[in-house]
Amino acid sequence: MLSTIIYRSHIVPDVPLKFLHELAIKANKINESSSITGILLFNGTHFFQLLEGPEQAVKAVYSRICQDPRHHNLVELLRDYAPARRFGHVGMELFDLRQHDPETVLEAVLAKCTSKYQMTYADRALQFLRTFVEAREKENYFEIPAASSWTFVRDEAEQREGETRLMAADQVSFAFQPIVDPLACEIVSLEALLRGPQGELPLDYFDRLPREQLYLTDLQSKRIAFAQARQLGIEGMTLSINLLPMTLVEVPGAVQYLLDEIAAQGLVPEQVMVEFTENEIISRLDEFEAAIKQLKAAGISLALDDFGAGFAGLSLLTRIQPDKIKIDRKIIADVHKSGPKQAIIHAILKCCSSLEIAVIAEGIEQPEEWMWLEAAGVTQFQGFLFSTPRLNGVAAVAWPELR
Ligand code: C2E
Ligand code: MN
Ligand code: MN
Repeated sequence: MLSTIIYRSHIVPDVPLKFLHELAIKANKINESSSITGILLFNGTHFFQLLEGPEQAVKAVYSRICQDPRHHNLVELLRDYAPARRFGHVGMELFDLRQHDPETVLEAVLAKCTSKYQMTYADRALQFLRTFVEAREKENYFEIPAASSWTFVRDEAEQREGETRLMAADQVSFAFQPIVDPLACEIVSLEALLRGPQGELPLDYFDRLPREQLYLTDLQSKRIAFAQARQLGIEGMTLSINLLPMTLVEVPGAVQYLLDEIAAQGLVPEQVMVEFTENEIISRLDEFEAAIKQLKAAGISLALDDFGAGFAGLSLLTRIQPDKIKIDRKIIADVHKSGPKQAIIHAILKCCSSLEIAVIAEGIEQPEEWMWLEAAGVTQFQGFLFSTPRLNGVAAVAWPELR
């Protein structure tokens, strides 16, 4: 099957142009033998390449290109399938856009095109090409520094030990994970993550419970989360707890229970944020809305968790505007390499900014993910890169420092 990959990248400083032409010639030998065609554009700073050919061959060549040290900040823009090649000529020359008159440069590029319809039909690949040639859409080209330009310095002072005695042998306990503003070196919030009596992860633990116990257990476990938070000390930060949305609907007096337990630990509702996922909500949205009215009226804030992982994220936002949304790790992972993920995150940020909803990026594991998201305007993060969940306590936090 004929497949296409388009990427763009930045040239690293001090690569002589002569070298690039040699490179193109060398690359062509490989391309020819694996029947890959396409076009490579260069505008003085950025490369834009369209590769087309048999799927496995295109993938193999692309992963080799990704390893090339002469360019960086590679972003995959398109991966698609097509009935015919757009650039079917053997040999992939380096097309330097600067050597052409801006008025006619697009024509000059399209003159290389071998597909008979050219721009007549809306072909995404050719639209990408046109956007690059016309140098539109520059605001997404973040120059993120190499991962090695930051070190992550573990701050043992942030480490906290809770109270293990809070945990009776048959009871659940909580692991805490910081949500941080890394450039401010500040813990914004601690998230309480449930662990079963044998340390089971939440999903495994909840799976084992019969349905009639599920919601009550979910609610009552929060007594332990609040008590532990008091031990850990949460001055100047908030405590995030997770609840199944139906816990608020199915358990009578659930909101009052939370408020009583918050007060019992000497905390105030304004310090507490409830995170819920969109799963399950959709079928009983009216009842859920009634419950969150009570939460909000009492001063507790709301976060929409795992945003983008489910199936109703956007339509849910038309009904309920939380105080924060947490962008799911599925969208965050490798964001610095993926055009589609970057476009979606820009859209989420724009939408949340219009609605004054704060944004947290979840599941950050790589420095590049964090740097890309900072460049896009995210300031709050959660993930193993900064700190891992720790049972009955808070682990050290690794703060970024420029080398
Ligand atoms: P969540 O609320 O999205 O919590 C974050 C999960 O991502 C946690 O998994 C955490 O360990 C994990 N995580 C954090 N940073 C990273 C990272 O950098 N990389 C990766 N791969 N994972 C990371 P955990 O503890 O297994 O929790 C899973 C889910 O269980 C939570 O997802 C939450 O939806 C649910 N949950 C946790 N506690 C409770 C609770 O008390 N009640 C209810 N109803 N659900 C809970
Ligand atoms: Mn959560
Ligand atoms: Mn989440």
